[in-house]
Amino acid sequence: MMEGDATMDSNNLVKVMIDYDACAGHGQCEAVAPDIFQVDSEGMVHLLQETVGPDLRPQLDLAIKRCPECVIRFEMIS
Ligand code: SF4
Repeated sequence: MMEGDATMDSNNLVKVMIDYDACAGHGQCEAVAPDIFQVDSEGMVHLLQETVGPDLRPQLDLAIKRCPECVIRFEMIS
């Protein structure tokens, strides 16, 4: 399976990663995945949880699709 492929089995725990240098801070991620991402008043994105299970995968998958800079990815950890 390919790393970061949103179509693969969503029953696993995944580790969320952001390319902070490429993040533009417009908050699309927070809008669709408020349990995972938070953008502060200075436009810095923060991960509220680095590990995401099946319950939050729909939020994560949507954030990956909606991020205009394509800077969100994940890797399987279980
Ligand atoms: S949507 Fe992408 S570029 Fe925008 S704040 Fe979130 S991670 Fe950064």
